[in-house]
Amino acid sequence: MVTMSLPAVSSSAHAPFHVMAKAIGPICNLDCKYCFYLEKEQLYPNNEKWKMSDERLETFIRDYIAAQPGPEVSFAFQGGEPTLLGVDYFRKVVAFQKKHAGGKRIETAFQTNGTLLNDEWGEFLAENNFLVGLSIDGPEEVHDALRVDKKGRPTYKQVMQGLHYLRKHKVEFNTLTCVNAVTVQHPLKIYKFLKSIGSKYLQFIPIVEREVDTAAAKLGLDFAAPPDLENAPASKENPRMSEFAVPAEAYGEFLVKIFDQWVKRDVGKVYVQLFDNALQKWLGIPGGLCYFSETCGRALAMEHDGDVYTCDHFVYPKYKLGNLMNQSLGELADSPGARAFGEAKRSTLPKYCRECSVRFACNGECPKHRFTYTPDGEWGLNYLCPSYKRFFNHVRPAMEIMAQLYREQRPPAEVMQILPSAAGKEALKALARCLIGNRPATIRCAACLTRMHMIIGYAYEVPFNVNPRSTGNARGKACSS
Ligand code: SF4
Ligand code: SF4
Repeated sequence: MVTMSLPAVSSSAHAPFHVMAKAIGPICNLDCKYCFYLEKEQLYPNNEKWKMSDERLETFIRDYIAAQPGPEVSFAFQGGEPTLLGVDYFRKVVAFQKKHAGGKRIETAFQTNGTLLNDEWGEFLAENNFLVGLSIDGPEEVHDALRVDKKGRPTYKQVMQGLHYLRKHKVEFNTLTCVNAVTVQHPLKIYKFLKSIGSKYLQFIPIVEREVDTAAAKLGLDFAAPPDLENAPASKENPRMSEFAVPAEAYGEFLVKIFDQWVKRDVGKVYVQLFDNALQKWLGIPGGLCYFSETCGRALAMEHDGDVYTCDHFVYPKYKLGNLMNQSLGELADSPGARAFGEAKRSTLPKYCRECSVRFACNGECPKHRFTYTPDGEWGLNYLCPSYKRFFNHVRPAMEIMAQLYREQRPPAEVMQILPSAAGKEALKALARCLIGNRPATIRCAACLTRMHMIIGYAYEVPFNVNPRSTGNARGKACSS
């Protein structure tokens, strides 16, 4: 290998951080209609060379390893479409990782649309233990609705061909499914399909894009720029959502439908990232998905030219932290810009969220999606708030049981036996607390009965009708019992 003269080596950051590497920038062989990253091509000149140079690649790999304070380092290559770089490019990645590992354990994740995979890729990915994330939106008619190539042609068959190579070479993979205006209508069909193709690790990512605004239009982009959380816009108009965005309530229903199947049959067999993350929240374990963390700022994105941004969702000039060739990654991760960005997620949380009963699990979700008003008119509420309220409240009883099992060092999968049992029914009743006075629920109170109805009905699909007038607590006041 040619030895290059690289910038001075980075020192370790104060805490672990993550970099999503875009070694081919936003370039992709597909043209999925809802993709928020393709538009980033407009941020660069027409004659841009998109492939990250060897010098930058080696600097990145060396620096990233050196900057991680712990013994493990997780790389993530995404795009655009990283397979466009060819297998030999990733052979160089592995060689640089080995050269600079310094005794640390290296893992590499690789997100792909799967359409260019073949035997050579399969062999390489398996040999080097890459964890592959395969983007697939569901069965053929669902997937092909919006995941099309540059000529608008469907791509499902090529993706399934790619999957064939992953399975043939026993490459570890998970699936990433975008929940958009089309896929949101088919939760169970998609869930069943993903299990049928052998996916055991499922990610469901909501598509939340608004039509282009003035700031983004000036940059030549197709979607609105992220909201300014410090300053509410002059007008209180409803956001103009892109036609492919998931409706604000529908995402929650989508998750609830899948959760109900999962919690009855698949706990411990199928891993849904968001459900695992929710359990982690119920157990009070820090970390997990950035969306639901209290602060951001530790999940940076790096473009092919070495420019480093605060996050993959914030690749805009305003959020650029610097360039890898001028400043070390550790410095950039710990820089005042990164810290301020991360802290803003917590400091700009509206009162409505701060007082929300599921805040511990939601934390207002991603700041990119905070562009609506709270019921009392405060700016900065997450567009998906109705979905998260619905989902986190719905999963609460099962999460509490699973968390308890975990604390007793029993497998959370036992929830599947507990829920339908008589003991489970009692446990669920015991979980029902007065929503107003936070006491154990009582059968004399309509609010409590409704709560029990939600919990028991959820587990048993039992119709349980309560007439609030018949129990004398229709106005939502705490009862005296
Ligand atoms: S801005 Fe959104 S995607 Fe980025 S780190 Fe924060 S929560 Fe995650
Ligand atoms: S569910 Fe809604 S109110 Fe509660 S923390 Fe999340 S976004 Fe805020």
